[in-house]
Amino acid sequence: MKKQTIAAISTAQGQGGIGIIRISGDEAISVAEKVFRSVSGKPLSTLKGYQAAFGAVFDGDERIDEAVALVFKAPHSYTAEDVVEISCHGGLYMTKRVLRVVLSAGAVLADAGEFTKRAFLNGKLDLTEAEAVIDIISAKGKSAARAALAAKDGVISKKITEFRGSLVEIAAHLSAWADYPDEDIVEVDLDEIKLSVRNAANHLEQLLKSFDNGQIIKEGIDTVIAGRPNVGKSSLMNMLTGSEKSIVTDIEGTTRDIIEETVQVDDLLLRLSDTAGLRETENAIEKIGVDKAWNRIRSAALILLVLDGSSPLQNEDLELINAAFEIPVIAVINKSDLLQKVDEEYINNKIKHIVKISALNQSGLEELLQTIRLVALSPDFDPSQAILLNERQRDVVSRALTALHETLQAIKSGFTLDAVTVSLEVAIENLFELTGERASEAIVNSVFEKFCVGK
Ligand code: GDP
Repeated sequence: MKKQTIAAISTAQGQGGIGIIRISGDEAISVAEKVFRSVSGKPLSTLKGYQAAFGAVFDGDERIDEAVALVFKAPHSYTAEDVVEISCHGGLYMTKRVLRVVLSAGAVLADAGEFTKRAFLNGKLDLTEAEAVIDIISAKGKSAARAALAAKDGVISKKITEFRGSLVEIAAHLSAWADYPDEDIVEVDLDEIKLSVRNAANHLEQLLKSFDNGQIIKEGIDTVIAGRPNVGKSSLMNMLTGSEKSIVTDIEGTTRDIIEETVQVDDLLLRLSDTAGLRETENAIEKIGVDKAWNRIRSAALILLVLDGSSPLQNEDLELINAAFEIPVIAVINKSDLLQKVDEEYINNKIKHIVKISALNQSGLEELLQTIRLVALSPDFDPSQAILLNERQRDVVSRALTALHETLQAIKSGFTLDAVTVSLEVAIENLFELTGERASEAIVNSVFEKFCVGK
């Protein structure tokens, strides 16, 4: 069946220097030719792949805008089809107007993610590589971008194919052995099978562990800055964000609400919440802030417990130091520029990670970041390695792993080889689903629904 030629605005909607209208499909070049006239007079169909022409977009005889048309010839394009990208001026009106004439010339409006979906269906990308496109576009920080690019380059698929082949071989051997018992098939060596299955399971366990790190670099570390009033929470927030967003003042209890901000500090993405000073209070408004702060702490992933190094520990400090938090805590002893009166040994006995800073002098930041890295990420974390980037991937890998465990269990319990084969095949199916080679249409559709139009 001949597929329709699709078109959409591929750049962000808004005002920009240029805006790109992408056309893909068998008729891409002829559609573009109907609306675009080059200054040289050469029709687009005479251009080679990767060649561009300067000219203008026309609606009938009306010249709408100056533009450049870039031609890609199948299969050497994003979608593996003929593609023309028209770059016009990036105004909201202009890009929509150019899209409209392209649609009147015979293209249909692309669905969300349809360009990438076609790239997938035409074998340009596997499913994990296609999903990585979303992650590249939405990356908020350096590590997330690196991980997404690595996935786009196929690190996840490469890791899977490394051991999937041997599982497929085993399954084939098992079926052959079961189906043709009289033939001359080498006897099944259960120890060898166990070895291969265990090896595959180890790889999958590693991948599953990578998911948490993936979430941390994608979404940021949910970090709460806590501490009694006046210890320097707002100042620390400012030090990390490099701005003056939190109100810094020496009147106690001024940061009444929770200030949240996502910041990229070095290679770390932090979702910071500066909470109200935690203390008993009679002031109704302040009390709301204090309650909110406690709730916020309970849902966080990391606590930066700020203490004032220039003052002895007070009851409110002790309450926080001794609170049995279920998440990692870093004691941040602030005001290291002043004479130190805090009982450091006491803190040290209760909290494993201590960092001294002076928010006033902006000192101690590198050590603080180093400690956050240590606490929040696995020690061997490397964003250029295979990292599971979303729930779908985590889910199929976890199903594959369960099936491998069942395979090992079946061997151990001395079940028939049929039972071993069945669970092994479930694992293999899931691994093919991960990369999309055997994913149902519904799964494929649900992946591409998450894209926006133009991608
Ligand atoms: P918060 O109530 O915990 O948010 O504390 P603030 O950030 O508002 O700081 C309280 C007071 O301590 C302010 O007067 C700050 O200027 C001061 N302060 C904060 N950090 C430091 C520091 O590192 N050294 C010194 N000497 N003063 C600091």
